[in-house]
Amino acid sequence: MDKCPLCGGRKADGKTTFTVDFGEGVVVVRNVPAIICEQCGEEWLDDDTASRLEEVTNKAKEKHTEIEMVPYDKVAS
Ligand SMILES: [Zn+2]
Repeated sequence: MDKCPLCGGRKADGKTTFTVDFGEGVVVVRNVPAIICEQCGEEWLDDDTASRLEEVTNKAKEKHTEIEMVPYDKVAS
């Protein structure tokens, strides 16, 4: 479980930047907690984190936001 399925490298807790381009606009969420492969840099988000990011994206779509940049701790609360 703690080995990267792509390269066999070690997975470690880290932070990543989540960017989604939904056509009309872009959402950037910084400091997102993730599991990151130390060797190839592949990232995994847990379900809870992924659903929060989806919420942020949906809200930005509703507001017709062109660019939204937020720190993860602001959306997680
Ligand atoms: Zn890897």
